[in-house]
Amino acid sequence: MFAKNMVELGQKRSTIREIFEYGKKRAAEIGAENVYDFSIGNPSVPAPDCVRRAVISVLDTEGPVSAHSYTSAQGDYGVRAAMAEDLNSRFGTHFHADNFYMTVGAAAALSCCFKALSEPGDEFIAIAPFFPEYQCFVEKGAGARLVVAEADTAAFQINFERLEAAITPHTKAVIINSPNNPSGAVYSVKTIQTLAALLTEKSAAFGRPIFLISDEPYRELVYGGVRVPFITKYYKNTLVCYSYSKSLSLPGERIGYVLVPDELEDAKTAYAAICGAGRSLGYVNAPSLFQRVAAACAGQTADLAVYEKNRDLLYEGLVSLGFSCVKPEGAFYIFPRSLEPDASAFCLRARKYDLLLVPGDDFGCPGHVRISYCVPTSRIEQALELFKRLAQEY
Ligand code: PLP
Repeated sequence: MFAKNMVELGQKRSTIREIFEYGKKRAAEIGAENVYDFSIGNPSVPAPDCVRRAVISVLDTEGPVSAHSYTSAQGDYGVRAAMAEDLNSRFGTHFHADNFYMTVGAAAALSCCFKALSEPGDEFIAIAPFFPEYQCFVEKGAGARLVVAEADTAAFQINFERLEAAITPHTKAVIINSPNNPSGAVYSVKTIQTLAALLTEKSAAFGRPIFLISDEPYRELVYGGVRVPFITKYYKNTLVCYSYSKSLSLPGERIGYVLVPDELEDAKTAYAAICGAGRSLGYVNAPSLFQRVAAACAGQTADLAVYEKNRDLLYEGLVSLGFSCVKPEGAFYIFPRSLEPDASAFCLRARKYDLLLVPGDDFGCPGHVRISYCVPTSRIEQALELFKRLAQEY
């Protein structure tokens, strides 16, 4: 009577959500101060004041009818022009309003891209470790197949041998996410150039483009002066999926965009397909008030300094306890090797200390655990003692 795959999807929470819900239950039992929940990527710093000011200003200047009205399906023209201006001023690009399609966060941006590109038999390649929801968006949402290229666990850049082996005549697009959830790696210029060369060669061999979908919700969350290469400059057939969830600490407000550059092959048709995908998924338009807020705050960020402090504290603490991990350069996750081969068993053992960690298996990278450090610094200071006791068990 009901769609079997949707029932399954609705009944089975993601592992991250499962652990997050366990944490809430446990907090009710023993007090939130005794649960060290490192499971979910909810920003811990407040939205910057420009958000509050923009909300008030939109309500005051536009009034309560216009501020909450439907916008064009692709988003308000002035908002999209502001998105273009922001990127052009920061990255030296030449985008214009009609390159942008405003979305309900990066999740919707990705879903629209997958649906817009999918034809029967198509495959999308995710590079491990990857955001587990890609599986749901590609397979359940767009009816295509997700193929995983195994990780380069030495540096969490790209293992090109494995990526090349994963590319077939069915490959429609490769998905990248840098700064990366869960590893915190930022792809270097060399990695991006090598990737662009590989995709250009394969596209020529197949006589059609292999697209690159660049999922960038953490673009501004980088540390130690690291720069994130702007991908459309390296590979023209790139669709960018962006979100203000992390940079402006607005995850619940659901605002982001798809960027379709003019250089993309048959860009106008691609843009139409993305509008069609958004329409078929019933998005209508991205949240009206927060489109205006994003335009007013484009290029600004919440105060992200605490994430860098947390990264340093956790990285140094874990390494001194004997954990092996790649130092993250961005996002707010660290992805050490688990202290036993089975990461799920390790995470269960960590629960004894009320340390809530996520096994790497769902990210396509067994033997690792994800620790989200978007928490107050004092929580990390306290948790390191528990990590020490956990490590002493091995
Ligand atoms: N992509 C990655 C890699 C993420 O980590 C997330 C959220 O955590 C998303 C996409 C979805 O972000 P949004 O809140 O903008 O839908």
